[in-house]
Amino acid sequence: MSENHSTIMQKSALSCVKCAKCIPTCTIYSINRDEVTAPRGYLDLVSAYAEGKLKMDMEFKDSIESCFLCTTCVTQCPISLPIDVVIERARVDIAQKYGIPLYKRIAFYLLGNRKVLNILFSFGFYFNPCLFKTSNGHKKLRFVPSRFRDLLDGRVIAPLLSKSFLQRYSGWQRINNTIKGYTSDSKPLQKVGIYIGCLSNYNYIDVGISLVKILQRLDIDVFIPNKQECCGAPAFFSGDIRNTTRLIKKNLDYFMTFIHEIDVVLIPEATCASMLKLDWLHALEIETEVFGMDNTEYIQKLDILTKKTFMASEWLYKHTRLMDLLKNFPIDKNIDKVITYHDPCHAKKTLKIFQEPRHLLSNFHIVEMKDSNVCCGFGGVTIQSEKYHLAKHIGDNKALNIANSGANVVSAECSACRMQINDSLERNNVQVEFKHPLELIAQNLGL
Ligand code: SF4
Ligand code: SF4
Repeated sequence: MSENHSTIMQKSALSCVKCAKCIPTCTIYSINRDEVTAPRGYLDLVSAYAEGKLKMDMEFKDSIESCFLCTTCVTQCPISLPIDVVIERARVDIAQKYGIPLYKRIAFYLLGNRKVLNILFSFGFYFNPCLFKTSNGHKKLRFVPSRFRDLLDGRVIAPLLSKSFLQRYSGWQRINNTIKGYTSDSKPLQKVGIYIGCLSNYNYIDVGISLVKILQRLDIDVFIPNKQECCGAPAFFSGDIRNTTRLIKKNLDYFMTFIHEIDVVLIPEATCASMLKLDWLHALEIETEVFGMDNTEYIQKLDILTKKTFMASEWLYKHTRLMDLLKNFPIDKNIDKVITYHDPCHAKKTLKIFQEPRHLLSNFHIVEMKDSNVCCGFGGVTIQSEKYHLAKHIGDNKALNIANSGANVVSAECSACRMQINDSLERNNVQVEFKHPLELIAQNLGL
């Protein structure tokens, strides 16, 4: 183990004053009330392992992999100890000792090979009627082998489409001068690139389509870089650092070829935005420390990219005239949708974005659900597969809070939350529709 990697895993435990402020709101501790699955317990466990006082075993692995990486603990800690980073580093060591399970290796291979994934999704779409049944507007598998019943029976599956967003849109989408834009002369005000995220690319393509329409309505030229890759979040949160950095480097090399032609890069997905703006640097640093790679050049490229990168709602709210435009499209709050907004952990806790989408949706009747900032329970690939019972437990609370809010639409700027919330709503028989804020804004503008 490299000295720096080990020191970082020990340092936070030494700084921890054991005040326990991180414990009451910890997502996993709310299910498993044991210090081995609580933030300060994690710090002690990982520190003892890094010091060589504790051997890594299956119990250690199970404990570390039970964390949802929601980062609530970091926001509660008075000295903002990076508990999430410590856990991410421990997962890299776990992956090195125990390897990456086959199902994850296949998933990460596919996420890094868009051509193959495009074919698989199209194939799935054409076999839709055979493979899936529809219940309350959600797709579920028709046939589930008995071995996978606990994991897949009745589970909501994200929709499969014939063509992805990136297969439909590519390159410059210049504003059409026949579109009546906000400005009188319809000249592009800015040039914006879109980094779409895998779920919005393959499953929820109306998110990207809505963003393109909103930007064009604001007289902004849009560039869709069609060779963009997955941000690597699924691999990173599973400790697969080499697959993560492979995707990061491919993306960075590609984005550098056109970054000077665009003013900003917008990401309509909280997890991908947080990954790019914060975790790409962590991943490159870990690779340097653990595998001895010199990533200086990529860290410089990342610096150029992050300076231009924003979550879509943040940039639209702060840097465009969208709010002014929306004033021309009032909604009768008595007869239209009642919306409740869920705060994705990777928007509110890591990027501090929570007011912007609410402001942009303020034409609608918004009601706040209880604990809107509490994790939805998505938690990443391991929680969604090997520890699905944990995802269900947390998701059931979220579904109850959404139902009790009285809203008929729930919104969040994150498609991972969308998958998890849709599954939780369906399991709890709550008839509330999920819409991304960009879909609602486009609808509000009549686009
Ligand atoms: S990241 Fe979330 S689940 Fe993990 S220790 Fe912190 S609060 Fe608990
Ligand atoms: S809140 Fe921070 S300092 Fe307090 S126990 Fe938790 S990790 Fe330690």
